[in-house]
Amino acid sequence: DLQPVRRALLSVSDKTGLIDLAKALEAAGVEILSTGGSAVAIREAGVAVRDVADVTGFPEMMDDRVKTLHPAVHGGLLALRDNAEHTGAMEEHGIGGIDLLVVNLYPFEAALARGADYDEMIENIDIGGPAMIRAAAKNHAFVTTIVDVEDYDALLAELQANGGQTSYAFRQRHAQIAYARTGAYDAAVSTWMAGAIGETTPRRRVFAGTLKQGLRYGENPHQQAAFYVDGSDRAGIATATQLQGKELSYNNINDTDAAFELVSEFAGGAPACAIIKHANPCGVAQGATILDAYKAAFDCDRTSAFGGIVALNRPLDAETAESISEIFTEVVIAPGADEAAKEIFAKKKNLRLLLTEGLADAATAGLTYRQVAGGMLVQDKDVGQRTLEDLKVVTKVQPTEAQMQDLLFAWKVAKHVKSNAIVYVKDGATVGVGAGQMSRVDSALIAAKKAERMAEALGLPEPLTKGSAVASDAFFPFPDGLMEAAAAGATCVIQPGGSMRDDEVIAAADEAGLAMVFTGMRHFRH
Ligand code: 5GP
Repeated sequence: DLQPVRRALLSVSDKTGLIDLAKALEAAGVEILSTGGSAVAIREAGVAVRDVADVTGFPEMMDDRVKTLHPAVHGGLLALRDNAEHTGAMEEHGIGGIDLLVVNLYPFEAALARGADYDEMIENIDIGGPAMIRAAAKNHAFVTTIVDVEDYDALLAELQANGGQTSYAFRQRHAQIAYARTGAYDAAVSTWMAGAIGETTPRRRVFAGTLKQGLRYGENPHQQAAFYVDGSDRAGIATATQLQGKELSYNNINDTDAAFELVSEFAGGAPACAIIKHANPCGVAQGATILDAYKAAFDCDRTSAFGGIVALNRPLDAETAESISEIFTEVVIAPGADEAAKEIFAKKKNLRLLLTEGLADAATAGLTYRQVAGGMLVQDKDVGQRTLEDLKVVTKVQPTEAQMQDLLFAWKVAKHVKSNAIVYVKDGATVGVGAGQMSRVDSALIAAKKAERMAEALGLPEPLTKGSAVASDAFFPFPDGLMEAAAAGATCVIQPGGSMRDDEVIAAADEAGLAMVFTGMRHFRH
């Protein structure tokens, strides 16, 4: 199953490694064909090269839109070398076989990343490149396809090992990589267009990404994993710069994303901090300074914060860096960090510091996907927001202005807590978070229990849930969950409403002297 490489077509936008590759191919006796810019570069390096225009008998034309789209190229890539009709056609029409195709595509994703305008994006859609890649990869029985600069060394090693030939396994493997590339490329184009025309429905969309990094392992050490990015410029885990610390793990990336998306809810507001464990917040707070916010978030659940991920909505300063350094923290992500803060962290070799450019816009629409057996579920991102005007007071007691602020804060946090979510808040800080329970009553209980434990640890006379605001991510189907929250000391409640038994729940709230508001919106998160 070895196939000789006698003739190669090199057509690359990214010229990295091109000259070394051309020289090595020439040394191996391979005839090189190439397109415009690639041919110029190869020729300048003193390597013999034949222009594709010479092969096709047509000049490269129409702003390079048409260069290789010709039977002399595609026939050479697609012809079955062991089929008499195919080889007869090659002979009849003077088509030479192309045994090796090396292409990397117009940098569409890079143009996207630098915010190119519509027309520029259109010109960055490669046509001939994907056509050749798909042709060569289809014919991998005979033809080798390389689409990634990183694979040049493997190609040369393969040729070396097999006396100028490639094995079937090698060609097949690289055909698979080739289709991953063209698939991801067209997905990037379609996703960009959806954004450009404001197409928001999850129907008739395609999902793919570009490999950002291979990961050491997945959620557990026996699982392989990798991180793909979709090319959007959203501030966050995909675009952040890591300043120090070990490579991020799969779980780090997942948790850091949760942390930064949560803290970005407070983009326009006071300094805010979120501490995340296992994708759930174990403390979120706003404060007069970022240090105040961190300390208040930390005080919600100091035990769980150990080994957590910290996200800030303001640049990291020295005092906060100092305070964070007091316990073991896996990752800190922030829109920036001053020099003194960086110096403090530099002493903590294991701590990863990630800096983003700004905060993510919590209102920007997008899609979320999750895998199910045999498929994928796709939906709009939950960008639902509630402000004061949207809230409906349903109890006899009206919340005070301060309570309203805490209710809205609790509501924002609840959106980022796995259901069933119950979040107690006091003075702009969570004081108890109940997450991921199958029963809403249990979430209310667990959060209250943690608050009791924190009160003991901090030497407080009573848990901070006394006099707190409480949020529930979905309606209370019965009064029991609400009563647990009241027993923990909550004095005001925010919840969607809409239960068959709303009347009962409201009556129970009135009886307990609670103030309650309905949002008319649910924030399930699973
Ligand atoms: P060069 O720098 O060699 O002039 O151009 C290389 C780029 O052109 C590669 O990214 C390749 O995918 C692309 N390409 C090759 N043939 C065609 C074609 O016929 N049409 C278009 N639009 N691009 C092509």
